[in-house]
Amino acid sequence: MSVTDEVVAANRQYAADFKLGNLAMPPARKLAIVACMDARMTVEPMLGLKTGDAHIIRNAGGIVTEDALRSLIISHYLLGTQEFIVINHTDCGMLTFKDEDLRSKLQSATGTAAVAPAAFHAFSELEQNVREQIQKVRAHPWIPQNIPVRGFVYDVKTGRLNEVAEKRAGVAS
Ligand SMILES: [Zn+2]
Repeated sequence: MSVTDEVVAANRQYAADFKLGNLAMPPARKLAIVACMDARMTVEPMLGLKTGDAHIIRNAGGIVTEDALRSLIISHYLLGTQEFIVINHTDCGMLTFKDEDLRSKLQSATGTAAVAPAAFHAFSELEQNVREQIQKVRAHPWIPQNIPVRGFVYDVKTGRLNEVAEKRAGVAS
């Protein structure tokens, strides 16, 4: 039995006593989260959220990509979210390689170049990466300035979320 078969079987159990069929489409807590896809983060329980409370947009690294922006814009304008959070985490796989190296490895392994993805978004400094993701959200012309955008690093060893302080221009930190 493949893992896919196993999870389909598990879903039959889940559906057997399903009670969430009447949730509204807009997130109840009006929150949208961009988080890394890391398997060690189970976003809802780690933030005290329930099904239906928030949008959770996940990708490798918790990067504010064009597609994450697309989701955030839809989340706010069509589904009413009013606060955004970015979550990266310690021991992230994205800290372990460089875009150019992965690209050339894949190119030589497959014998072909590819136009997409244009970037893998590997990074070498965790907190700085979080700040850059916040800046990408804030700088977007369609995202209202009054939406709070805060960033965090989740510690995979302790389960604790630590806020990343913003670096303000001209202020030492
Ligand atoms: Zn990660």
